[in-house]
Amino acid sequence: MIIVLRPDATQKQVNHLVEKIKKLGLKPWVSRGVERTIVGVIGEEDVIRVQPLEVYPGVEKVLQILKPYKLASRDFKKEDSIVNVGGLKVGGKRLIVMAGPCSVENEKLLIDIAKKVKKAGATMLRGGAFKPRTSPYAFQGLGLQGLKYLAEAKKETGLKIVTELMDIRELDVILKYCDLIQIGARNMQNFNLLKEVGKTKKPVLLKRGMANTIKELLMSAEYILSEGNFNVILCERGIRTFEDATRFTLDVAAIPVIKNLSHLPVIIDPSHATGKWGLVGPCAKAGIAAGADGLIIEVHPKPEEAFSDGEQSLIPSNFEKLMKELKKVAVSVGRSI
Ligand code: PEP
Ligand code: MN
Repeated sequence: MIIVLRPDATQKQVNHLVEKIKKLGLKPWVSRGVERTIVGVIGEEDVIRVQPLEVYPGVEKVLQILKPYKLASRDFKKEDSIVNVGGLKVGGKRLIVMAGPCSVENEKLLIDIAKKVKKAGATMLRGGAFKPRTSPYAFQGLGLQGLKYLAEAKKETGLKIVTELMDIRELDVILKYCDLIQIGARNMQNFNLLKEVGKTKKPVLLKRGMANTIKELLMSAEYILSEGNFNVILCERGIRTFEDATRFTLDVAAIPVIKNLSHLPVIIDPSHATGKWGLVGPCAKAGIAAGADGLIIEVHPKPEEAFSDGEQSLIPSNFEKLMKELKKVAVSVGRSI
């Protein structure tokens, strides 16, 4: 349920309403927009349906939200959300580009990549220290050591760090080293993990599961928001279809669909979506043209020697070239990089 307040509602009236909702054993979430305040009500709504909330002072209307996600919906917040990642704003006019290797491999290589992607215009460094691999025999990541290398790269370049959290037991250490917690496609519906990151204030990059609908992605975001963490960025990273020319199928339409349904920022991952470095550029451009708020791209100087995902990694010079092209696409849709 969403309670829309009148434009002239006073703080006292908002507080009064919030107290009433709490007394009924429900959770109120207040969203202050430019024009008006909206109160989202979470919990067993049957209790409140019988209360005549329309008569409360300051209340304009009460809306029953039929969508299963509420806090993530546009009904709850009309304006686009801007997520602050260590001072970088994701969701504003300026697009955010996160780039780096699939896996953190060693300190020297990571710092070298970090410097190159920064020079090309990236503002965040990606790199997995805990890797979700299909095979248990494949490289599983450097773990804590990898996080320490990411911290060194941050010190050297000032780039913000995005890295994946796979297990609740690693939450504290990931919180210490990253600016943005990545929840990978394979964990999009790990609800306990979502609840735990929801209890923190750290920004979260929630990737769409490869076999999940947009609605399910938004429900997963709702898990994080309903715990109190509104700093969620969504990521379209390709879904499974019958098409096997690409690793996954980039669902470009997901971007405008999500933008209509939700206020949360959306970025795209053309690397995992295609699995082929030659397709990363065209899909990155399509994503920006469709309204994405940023990109996450894999970059490696020697893709043939990469510990993971070499086939889809751009070499730094190609990344630099692509960034120049992306700037033009961004400008054509009223954005900048
Ligand atoms: C990644 O970004 O390294 C990754 C494993 O992505 P996804 O979860 O989308 O497969
Ligand atoms: Mn990868």
